[in-house]
Amino acid sequence: MQDHVIDMPLRSVAVVLGTRPEIIKLANVIRVLGSAARVIHTGQHYDFGLSASFLDSFGIGEPSRFLGIGGKTRAQQIGQAVNALSGVFEESPPAVLVVQGDTNTTMAGALAANALEIPLVHVEAGLRSHDRRMPEEHNRVVTDHLGDLLCAPTELNRHNLLSEGIDSSRVLVTGNTVVEAVQQLMPAPAQRAALLGGYGLGPGEFVLSTFHRPENVDDADRFSTIVKQLSSLPYAVVLPLHPRSRDRAARFGLDRDLEAIKVIDPIGYRDFLGLSAESAFLVSDSGGIQEEASIYKRPVVVVRRSTERPEVLGTFARLVEPDHIGATVSSWLADLAGIHHELSELPSPYGDGSASDRIVGALEELVEGG
Ligand code: UDP
Repeated sequence: MQDHVIDMPLRSVAVVLGTRPEIIKLANVIRVLGSAARVIHTGQHYDFGLSASFLDSFGIGEPSRFLGIGGKTRAQQIGQAVNALSGVFEESPPAVLVVQGDTNTTMAGALAANALEIPLVHVEAGLRSHDRRMPEEHNRVVTDHLGDLLCAPTELNRHNLLSEGIDSSRVLVTGNTVVEAVQQLMPAPAQRAALLGGYGLGPGEFVLSTFHRPENVDDADRFSTIVKQLSSLPYAVVLPLHPRSRDRAARFGLDRDLEAIKVIDPIGYRDFLGLSAESAFLVSDSGGIQEEASIYKRPVVVVRRSTERPEVLGTFARLVEPDHIGATVSSWLADLAGIHHELSELPSPYGDGSASDRIVGALEELVEGG
């Protein structure tokens, strides 16, 4: 990661974000933009542990606006965010608007930019699960088709965009900004040892798990199977539980089953990275964790029906249904040290930690040329 801050003579760059992964992946774009960045938080994640603590870890400071759209339905979140964002931009139009990923905030930012004819940059463009049951897939497709500069993390993502008829002049392969985020906040080995001590865990002797996707936690049978499979693994399982999942677990009567697992509140990014790097492996339905695992070199059991990140399948990630978690883990146990060694030699497909610099460079060209 380069440590420079550009001095951009722009009116301003509006950076619209609203959830934990957007903060993580836009943090270094905001740092490189320096005083040109105007951060607008939609409030999609309004919980401190999922939002403010992440802004603090990256030193982003208070967003210039906070729109408070959290805790609503998808349609309400998108509608209200478009409405609120257009109010903000009509008052003070930015030179360009940046969104990241595939959330309702991403979609709302893209629609507001389009309606107000503000050039749109999409960070992490071109991911496709080809699974139309996932709202995220629709958010990605709409945002990519509206975007003026599409920052694709990998060649495969670029290929996805071109195969939908998007002109190659709008697409740039940048790598993924998650690499810079991990490089910036991964704790040093001594801090990781202290962190493990605090949780009473030994290195490589536990599994780290997260679950929050509606396809898993809104379905009582799937969620119950996941909890049962996790609790029968031959390792201690640490599960920082997302508020949505905690709510569903209580509603589905899973609290008793969760007693076999070390359930904790969501934790800050530094600690989460430290635990991840020291774990035996991870079990998760997160998108970002699939990428991060390729940087700290741990295998992940991905419990999903589909993935938009096939770059890591067969190496860092295995895609499984809930009832196959235990069997997948069993197949690793004979030689987990060998698997760790093999992964330690594999490069991450997500780039070298310069994505944020590339994105801001291309953004400057977009504004200057426009
Ligand atoms: N994460 C974290 N603390 C936690 C759980 C997850 O910092 O307690 C991080 C994790 O490293 C990853 C991101 O949050 O970068 C994942 O967020 P989420 O699963 O909500 O979103 P997704 O990646 O699926 O879009």
